[in-house]
Amino acid sequence: MSDFEGLKALVTGGASGIGRATAELLAARGAQVAVLDLDPAPVDKPLLGFRADVSDDASVREAVAAAVTELGGLDIVVNNAGVGAQGTVEDNDDAEWHRVLDINVVGMVRVARAALPHLRRSQHAAIVNTCSIGATAGLPQRALYCASKGAVYSLTLAMAADHVREGIRVNCVNPGTADTPWIGRLLDAADDPAAERAALEARQPTGRLVSAAEVAGAIAYLASPLSGATTGTSLAVDGGMQGLRLRPV
Ligand code: NAD
Repeated sequence: MSDFEGLKALVTGGASGIGRATAELLAARGAQVAVLDLDPAPVDKPLLGFRADVSDDASVREAVAAAVTELGGLDIVVNNAGVGAQGTVEDNDDAEWHRVLDINVVGMVRVARAALPHLRRSQHAAIVNTCSIGATAGLPQRALYCASKGAVYSLTLAMAADHVREGIRVNCVNPGTADTPWIGRLLDAADDPAAERAALEARQPTGRLVSAAEVAGAIAYLASPLSGATTGTSLAVDGGMQGLRLRPV
């Protein structure tokens, strides 16, 4: 029997990378899945695509309402949409701090706010937030990004506490460097992308990047009834980076 038979899921940022791998995995395991993304064009059946900008409350409310109507309910929210930011605190101005925090942190709050009334009607309600090892590790040249993911981590714990008695579980995954279009764009911007990729892989404990499918697997576990007694936790999917106390660069 499939783990997600009869369950209805919503995945933000589900048109690319980790979100897309998650949406496809949940659908393959029997869930009905709606993807919310700035650009849902790459989303194919059986996934349902909805255009939404998580930094715009009205857009989120409209898209969540439309997705829930189409799905006929909601059990699982994967809060995954996010953007990167590079540099020290001296490199990003206030406008950039507000922009990134608005997407990476408040975006998850907006989606949760729109989804919670529907999740309260589910017997298997789960929210999984895509966090990062940057939430708890001091990554150089990533002050804003790390601060945003630190907030996602705290938000996960606070929401888990607020909603545990409503039967809504809230957890997060902490990926290391995952091989997605996002990392592809960063490598493409390097002088020698192949050499940069080789150096990045060499810094991983496993000698390779984490795959989007591996992060999706962890998200699926935390979203599924198999993890029914787990809430307020983070699951590292980082090839051993944190557990082995190695410093990513
Ligand atoms: P990606 O760029 O491949 O995909 C991100 C998706 O989010 C895109 O489809 C994009 O259109 C969508 N998106 C961006 N801003 C949005 C907005 N305002 N509203 C709606 N959708 C929006 O990136 P990815 O690597 O798959 O990253 C997904 C998540 O994983 C992010 O939260 C990121 O912080 C986190 N993460 C990634 C890595 C990594 O190494 N790739 C590591 C740790 C955490």
